[in-house]
Amino acid sequence: MSELRFDGRVAVITGAGHGLGRAHALSLAERGAKVVVNDLGGALDGTGASTGPAAEVVELITKNGGEAVASTDNVATPEGAKAIVQAALDSFGQVDIVINNAGILRDKSFGKMTVEEFDAVLAVHVRGSFLVSHAAFPYLKEQGYGRIVNTSSPAGLFGNFGQANYSTAKMGLVGLTKTLAIEGARAGIRANAIAPIAWTRMTEALLPAEFEAKFTPERVSTLVTYLAHESCETSGEVFSVGGGRIARVFVAEGPGWKQDDHTVEDIRDNWEAIMAEQPYLTPTTIGQQAGASMKAML
Ligand code: NAD
Repeated sequence: MSELRFDGRVAVITGAGHGLGRAHALSLAERGAKVVVNDLGGALDGTGASTGPAAEVVELITKNGGEAVASTDNVATPEGAKAIVQAALDSFGQVDIVINNAGILRDKSFGKMTVEEFDAVLAVHVRGSFLVSHAAFPYLKEQGYGRIVNTSSPAGLFGNFGQANYSTAKMGLVGLTKTLAIEGARAGIRANAIAPIAWTRMTEALLPAEFEAKFTPERVSTLVTYLAHESCETSGEVFSVGGGRIARVFVAEGPGWKQDDHTVEDIRDNWEAIMAEQPYLTPTTIGQQAGASMKAML
């Protein structure tokens, strides 16, 4: 079987100074990609900044014979996002792959969460992924090729106590990914999202100690690397990934219940049919979903 290589490809990876992003950067660089290692270098809650983490990853890649440059720009500002993409253009002449991975946490139970805590988390995850993709998009479109991987989370897909801000952001990234997949399709741009689990500074206080050896960032980077490769034509999908297991996560709609003129009580009395899961649909566009509703009208 031939090895999947990235020679001639340029990847931008945000939040690549630590954890998952670092592992993605090392994986792509090892396979020949030129990499912009972006990391603001702050704390887990997004405060502070340092040039150290991005520089260290660049040094490691270079030592291993790869090519990389560091960027310490903030993904959450339009200027920062533009500068990250510009670093790819200035250093390597192009951009082919965008991996939106930068993230912060400001966990708090819902009643105690401040507006600032909500906004700060959405700014890095949602705004950051939008801005960096948006800055790269004209170049991807122009060259008729691109791969985008966004980083969602099981917390967004399924909910998690204390993470109203984070789960809102992470489900938001599913919507962004699906629309990017639709809008990028004709230009050869594929966009997917991962919902990972890995032992990093973000999770080390939460996961049992035995997870460290099994839930390595590298066991997430293999999928990210595949999704970033030109041979992977899949788009608009979300994958649960960690510890060696990979599964498609899909948004499904049940068969539904229908009665043209119905009362509130009819809804109560048919709740079981409304809640039924089988046979389900997995629409890939709003048109497909609307089609199902229209078919039910006939
Ligand atoms: P991490 O803290 O090790 O990595 C996140 C990186 O993003 C850090 O290096 C940080 O400096 C950088 N960053 C933060 N704000 C930034 C900004 N504004 N601009 C540029 N860089 C910024 O944590 P991680 O676990 O490796 O997380 C990576 C991604 O994976 C995050 O989006 C996180 O939400 C997501 N995620 C992780 C897990 C897990 O199990 N570790 C689970 C679900 C989702």
